Amino acid sequence: MKILVTENIAQEGIAFLKAQNMDVTVNYSLTREELLSSISEYDALIVRSVTKVNEELYAHATNLKVVGRAGNGVDNIELAGATERGIIVVNTPDANTVSAAEHTIALMLSMSRNIPRANQHIKSKQWDRTLFRGVELKGKTLGIIGLGRIGTMVATRMQSFGMDVIAYDPYIRSDKFEKLGVEKMEQLSDLLGKSDFISVHTPKTKETIGIINADSFKLVKKGVRVVNCARGGIIDEAALYDALTQGIVAGAAIDVLKDEPHPISPLLDLESTVITPHLGADTFEAQKNVGESVAIEVFEALKGKLVANAVNLPTLSQQELEHMKPYLTLLERMGKIYHQIHHDAVERIVFTYKGDFTHRNTDPFVLAFIKGLYETVLDTPVTYVNAKLIAENRGVTIAESRVSTTEDFNNSVKIEIHSKNQTFEMEGALFGKKEPRIVSINSYPVDMTPKGNMLMIENNDSPGMIGTIGLLLGQNNINISTMNVSLSKTLKPALMLLTVDCPVPDDVLSQIQNQKGILKAWTLKM
Ligand code: NAD
Repeated sequence: MKILVTENIAQEGIAFLKAQNMDVTVNYSLTREELLSSISEYDALIVRSVTKVNEELYAHATNLKVVGRAGNGVDNIELAGATERGIIVVNTPDANTVSAAEHTIALMLSMSRNIPRANQHIKSKQWDRTLFRGVELKGKTLGIIGLGRIGTMVATRMQSFGMDVIAYDPYIRSDKFEKLGVEKMEQLSDLLGKSDFISVHTPKTKETIGIINADSFKLVKKGVRVVNCARGGIIDEAALYDALTQGIVAGAAIDVLKDEPHPISPLLDLESTVITPHLGADTFEAQKNVGESVAIEVFEALKGKLVANAVNLPTLSQQELEHMKPYLTLLERMGKIYHQIHHDAVERIVFTYKGDFTHRNTDPFVLAFIKGLYETVLDTPVTYVNAKLIAENRGVTIAESRVSTTEDFNNSVKIEIHSKNQTFEMEGALFGKKEPRIVSINSYPVDMTPKGNMLMIENNDSPGMIGTIGLLLGQNNINISTMNVSLSKTLKPALMLLTVDCPVPDDVLSQIQNQKGILKAWTLKM
C-alpha cells in the first residue's frame, strides 16, 4: 500500500511503516498542484496542521482510504467529506499529555525559584544571591482549573511535592476527585480564594476564554502565582498584567499567549513572568510518540482494524451512513444543548426510543449524543470511536429502552440527563424528509429545528414578553428566524425558543436577562 507523508513526523513513524512493507513517500516540499496531481496514487496521507485536506483534495484522491493527522486538532481536515467517501481520519490526542504536564511543572518551579532571572544574572558574571529568594511548593495549595488529562497528571505529580491540590471542573463527577485525593471546588471563586498557585488546564472555549479575568484577581490571595500552559487567552493578559504590577499576583508562568506567534504581550516586559514560546508539547518523546502513534493508527486503519483514535465514523457503509445521517444529526445536536445550559457532571443518561427509532441499531445514536455532549467541554475531538470511552471514564451510565407505541410522533427519542442535583429531559423527532426537531424540553412542548444560533428563555407568562425580546433583538440588529413560545402544563414560567440569524453577543444576553419578567436566558450554538 502507498502512503504519502507531506509534513514532518518523527523518523520512528516512517521506520515503522517501512518495516510493515508499506511503500512510503516522504515529501515535505510538495506544491499544492503537485499534491493534487499525485494524490490519486496513494492509499493513505499523513499530515500535520498545514496540508489542507478538503473537497479539492478529495476530488483527486480516488484511492485514499486513510488520513493521519500527527497531533491533536483536525482543523485542516474536512471531516464530513472524508466520512462521505469512507475515508478514515485518525489523530494522536494523547501523545503529548506527559510533556505538557511536565512543562507546567517546570514553569511552576522556575517561577517559584526565579530560575530564568538567576540564570541570566550569573551568566552576566554577577553574584548577588539576595535578589532571587524563592518560595517552596510544599504545604502550598495548588488550584487546578480543568481536571482532564493534563490537569490530572499535574495534580498527582504535585501531590508528591507535598502540595494540597484543589480543583474546579464542573463536568467531572465527585468520585474522580475523591479517588485522586483532590478537593472539589463547587465554584471557581472558592478555588481563587484558596490557592497559592493556580494552573489552568481547560480547552479554549467560549466559556473558558478569560475565565481568569480582572474580577477573578479581586478574589485571589495576595501573592498568588499563576500558570497557563493550556491556551493563550484563557487568562486575560491585560488583567494579569495589572494584577502583577499591582502586586496582587506575585508571579506568572506562561507557555501560551493570546497573539502567538507574535511576541507582543506586555507580560513579556515584566520581571515577575516566566514565559516560553509554546513549548508544552515540544519534547523528543512527544514528537516520537506523535510520529509513532500516527504511523500505527494509519497502518491499522489500512488493515481494516478498529482504530482507537479515529475521528469520523467510517465503520458504517456509505449507504448505511446516508440512511443514519438524519438520526445522528438529531442526536448530536440534542447532545450539544445540555452543557450550554447546565455546567455540571452528568451521571446517567436514559434514552427512550419510540416508533421508527426502535427498529434501528441504536448504538450510533448513543455515540452521537455523547459526542455532542462533550464536544463543547473537552480539548480532544470527541468522536464516534472514543465517545463511549469518554463517557465511561467520566463515570456516566447509559440506559436504553424501546417503546413501540407513540403518542404524538411517528418516531422520537426521549433523553433524560441526570446529574447530582437535577434531571434535564428533552425529546427529539424526525419530521417530513427526516428534518431534525426538538419537540419537548423539560415537559414544555416545543417545535424547533436545532440549527445555527439559538436563544432559550424562561420568562413569566405575562403580556408583552414576546414584544420585549423582539424589540431588544431588533435594537441590536439581530434578526429572528423562528420563535416558539410554550407553556408547561405543570410549571409556571413560559419557555421561549428562538433561532436567530447571527450569534447573540454576551452583552445582549445580559440585557435580555435583566428585562423584567425574564427569569433565565441562554444562547445555544449548534
Ligand atoms: P482534556 O480535554 O483532557 O481536559 C480538559 C478538561 O477541562 C476537561 O476535564 C473538562 O471537563 C474541563 N473543562 C472544560 N470547560 C471547563 C470550565 N469552564 N471550567 C473548568 N473545567 C472545564 O484536555 P487536556 O488534554 O488535558 O488539555 C488541556 C489544555 O492543555 C488544552 O487547552 C490543550 O489545548 C492544552 N495543551 C497545551 C499544550 C502546550 O503545548 N502548551 C500541549 C497539549 C495540550
